[in-house]
Amino acid sequence: MKEDQKSILSIDIGGTKMLGALITPDGAILRKVNVLTQAAEGPDAVIGRLTLLIDGFLGNSSGAAALSLAVAGPIDLKKGIITESPNLPGWQDVPLRSIIRDKYDLPVFLLNDAQSAALGENCFGAGIEVENLIFLTVSTGIGGGIIINNRLYTGASGSAGEIGHMVIDPGGPLCNCGNRGHYEAMASGTALAREAVKRLKEGAQSVLQESTGGSYGEITAKTVAEAAFSGDAFALDVISQTARYLGIGLANLVNIFNPELIIIGGGLSNLGTMLLEPAVEEIQARSFHLPASVVRVVTARLGADAGILGAAVFAHDCLMSGVK
Ligand SMILES: [Zn+2]
Repeated sequence: MKEDQKSILSIDIGGTKMLGALITPDGAILRKVNVLTQAAEGPDAVIGRLTLLIDGFLGNSSGAAALSLAVAGPIDLKKGIITESPNLPGWQDVPLRSIIRDKYDLPVFLLNDAQSAALGENCFGAGIEVENLIFLTVSTGIGGGIIINNRLYTGASGSAGEIGHMVIDPGGPLCNCGNRGHYEAMASGTALAREAVKRLKEGAQSVLQESTGGSYGEITAKTVAEAAFSGDAFALDVISQTARYLGIGLANLVNIFNPELIIIGGGLSNLGTMLLEPAVEEIQARSFHLPASVVRVVTARLGADAGILGAAVFAHDCLMSGVK
C-alpha cells in the first residue's frame, strides 16, 4: 500500500487513443487501460472521456499521488496550457491542467508527449546509462525531447524539443504547422509515403504498383516499408532518401548539443538499419568530428509505454522538489 500511495496516474493523450496507467516510482506499470480519443469530436468531448478514464482508476482506490498528462504539441508548462496540438483538432489554448485539477483533489502535471517519452527512455529504456541524449519519435510527424545532464530541457516556456519543426529546406514541402521545409515535412513517415507516391506517378517501377492496383492513396510508410523488406529496389531507395534527410537533421542536433546518444522511436524506427545507417552516414559527413565521434544512434526500447513512464517520472520529480 505504501508503494501504491507514491504511484502516479499517467495518461498519454494521443490523436487516436488515450493510454492511462498507474505507475510506481521505479517504473512498474500496475494497471493499464486504453480508450479511443475520438479527437474529431473536439476538446469538450475528449476531456469528458479523459475524466471517465481517470474516474475508472481513482474510483478503484488507486492511491495515486498525482495525475500526469502527456499531450502532443507545444505546452505552456508554467500555465499548464495546451497552446495547440496537431493531433487534436480544435485544441487552442486549452487550460487542461486547471480543468483537471478543479475536478480532482490531486496535483496535476502536463507535459509534451515526446518530452515525456524522452524522459521515459532516459530513466527506463534505451538511454538509461547516458546523461545527454536526444529522443525523436518519427511517425506521421516528428516529435522530440532533449535530456541534458539527466534532466529534461524544457526551455523558457516549456516547448523546447520541437525538433520536427526545424527548417531543413526553406523552399521545401508544406509542413502540418503551415510552414515550409520543416524536418517532419521531409523526414517523417508522411514524407516517406508522399515521396513514394510522387515517384510512382512519375513512372517509377515498384511492387507497390501491383499491390495497390494503381490506387496510390493507400500508400503509407508501412506499405513502403513492407515493399522494402521484400527487397523492392524502389522502396529501398525512397527509404534511403528519407533516412538521409533524417540524418541531416541529426547532424544539426549533433553539432548543437553534442549528445552521447540519439534514440529514434515511432513507427519509422521499425525500419532499423535501413533507416539508421544512411542517417549515421549523414551525421559523419556533416557534423564536426569531435561530437560525431562520440554519438551513437539507436532505436527506442519502450514503445508506446515511453510517454506514460516519462510523464510519471516528471510528476514524481516535481513532487519531490515541492512543485504542485
Ligand atoms: Zn512544421
